[in-house]
Amino acid sequence: MFVDSHCHLDFPDLANRVDDVLATMAANGVGTALCISVKLEDFPRVLGLAERHAHLWATVGVHPDNDGVDEPDVARLVALADHPKVVAIGETGLDYYWQKDAPEWQRERFRVHIRAARETGKPLVIHTRSAAEDTLRLMREEGAGEAGGVMHCFTETWAVAEAALELGFYISFSGIVTFRNAKDLKEVARRVPLDRLLIETDSPYLAPVPHRGRTNEPGWVVHVAEEIARLRDIPLASVEQATTDNFFRLFRHVQRPL
Ligand SMILES: [Zn+2]
Ligand SMILES: [Zn+2]
Repeated sequence: MFVDSHCHLDFPDLANRVDDVLATMAANGVGTALCISVKLEDFPRVLGLAERHAHLWATVGVHPDNDGVDEPDVARLVALADHPKVVAIGETGLDYYWQKDAPEWQRERFRVHIRAARETGKPLVIHTRSAAEDTLRLMREEGAGEAGGVMHCFTETWAVAEAALELGFYISFSGIVTFRNAKDLKEVARRVPLDRLLIETDSPYLAPVPHRGRTNEPGWVVHVAEEIARLRDIPLASVEQATTDNFFRLFRHVQRPL
């Protein structure tokens, strides 16, 4: 069984055909998926998916790209996370690619999420883009290692991966690792210890080869696993076993299907 550790099934491209999406998951042996929250306004829809489907789970958080949305404080996140199907805090982090002026509100929001994760004992789902140095600095300053979590859709250097691993974090690869031009990232995917590796789709974005350019979905996480197996020259079953075990170890509130 495979697990998609990061998807956005509440986004319009997927939400209007959830039954299809779940059927493809089943056909591809993808037995669990984590539905990621990006703003509080949409959180009820994310939670609704997790409540309706036993093998879907939810996170609560506000993505760093979302300016001018309902701003969470620690107490609010802690309260929303107090639900058996909410198993992590995020996605949160820093994104200076889309917010080129590196606004203070992003860093403040990230700190709030880390504090909430520590208080709830639920791990963090961290997004970082063009902001690795500040991301790691804030993780250290706020004691993110105590909550643990994952660096999702990882696209940074080996040095950044190593720093995150030292803080106890997992590294998750998306369909980007299947892209032919992602040479440096493929090298990182070879080096991350097998017991700290996760796979994800970040669907509806970033469809892996051979579906590149289409609307991505959790069932296609298998292609990410296949590429990692190829890069490391190990059987697909080893990647499947390791990434699934890792997922349930990190997100310990998720019930593993029998
Ligand atoms: Zn993200
Ligand atoms: Zn995402």
